[in-house]
Amino acid sequence: MQAITLLGATGSIGESTLDVIARHPDKYEVFALTGNLQIEKLAAQCLRHGAQFAVVNDAAGADKLRGLLKDSGCKTEVLFGAEALCQVASAVQVDTVMAAIVGAAGLLPTMAAVTTGKKILLANKESLVMAGDLFMRAVTASGSMLLPIDSEHNAIFQCLPADYSQPELSGISKLLLSASGGPFRGWSAQQMQGITPEQACAHPNWSMGRKISVDSATLMNKGLELIEACWLFNVSPQQVEVVVHPQSVIHSLVQYRDGSVLAQLGNPDMRTPIAHALAWPDRIESGVADLNLFEVARLDFERPDMQSFLCLQLAFDAAAAGGDAPAILNAANEIAVQAFLDGRIGFAQIPQVVDNTLSGLGISEPDSLHGVQESDQKARHHSAKYISQIEL
Ligand code: NAD
Ligand code: MG
Repeated sequence: MQAITLLGATGSIGESTLDVIARHPDKYEVFALTGNLQIEKLAAQCLRHGAQFAVVNDAAGADKLRGLLKDSGCKTEVLFGAEALCQVASAVQVDTVMAAIVGAAGLLPTMAAVTTGKKILLANKESLVMAGDLFMRAVTASGSMLLPIDSEHNAIFQCLPADYSQPELSGISKLLLSASGGPFRGWSAQQMQGITPEQACAHPNWSMGRKISVDSATLMNKGLELIEACWLFNVSPQQVEVVVHPQSVIHSLVQYRDGSVLAQLGNPDMRTPIAHALAWPDRIESGVADLNLFEVARLDFERPDMQSFLCLQLAFDAAAAGGDAPAILNAANEIAVQAFLDGRIGFAQIPQVVDNTLSGLGISEPDSLHGVQESDQKARHHSAKYISQIEL
């Protein structure tokens, strides 16, 4: 029996994870569930999945959750705050942690799980983008098993040899990172001027949280994934090529020196990578329908348009610059995406904010999580100030 802490249970990945877990009560039990604003949903999840602990962000949320659970006779113990998130991620009773909080808020609890040697199912790509070097060192030091949940990275993981350590030793020439292209594929920068949050969040193939949906629309998501791939698979940005594939059926590919290209295919449903990582190296039923190639009928590929989708270029540049440039990119992007969702800036201004922040701040080499958080804060401050000058 694997005891699981699910960080970000109330989100899109959290819900898909609980769906898979519930199909296998003989294999998985929920130790802790965490959520931020959706207290009713978290209460329903605690009742349905019998969590020992639930964690929310503040005292008011905790009181509300306790009230809801008490009325239903549920025994889940309710905690709150950043320290409690780290406690349920590192508790000795826990085997596996699903890191599915969105954004930089996921960094500390994910790191708490890494340093205590848990099996990590990593959806929170932002933590690896922010602190890749420290994160991967901590994985090696603690002996954690790190399994990617991001569909592209999970696909690459599945196409690599079992004893993979670096591309040169395994005969790999390139990683081919799939991108759907998002809802505005083929649009010019001019056409993208008046895009609304609702348009940006309506992804053609995947159903996701609002922040990652906007990231998919700007292609920043692919940029974050490029950086994520470099850390996970020990490759340089030059060894990763982004391939726009609008059907989202091939989730990514690995090209080998001998001309072979291995790909992982499936319907676009996150329960496949979640089930893969939960059961690895076994395979379990996920609830995802079989892929019907006759219905898919065709698979198309294009190069990404980095001129119209400046965020992807900015991420390539930050990956090449190294140091805290990816942490700055990530923080500026989080602030810009929130400002866009709040109607304070336009869609086309998201890359402007990121660019202005990256070029306005010098690059440093943080050697601690505290240093990474300082870079993150500095970038948030700079972006917020810039946004106040350009607000609609
Ligand atoms: P979501 O917005 O649906 O859910 C986010 C979760 O994080 C919620 O449970 C929320 O309560 C929690 N949360 C948000 N802010 C928090 C804070 N400050 N403190 C504590 N908890 C907080 O997001 P999602 O789509 O499920 O994405 C989660 C992560 O997985 C992201 O990093 C995303 O990039 C990654 N991911 C998602 C998908 C997908 O298909 N949804 C695919 C690949 C990777
Ligand atoms: Mg992805």
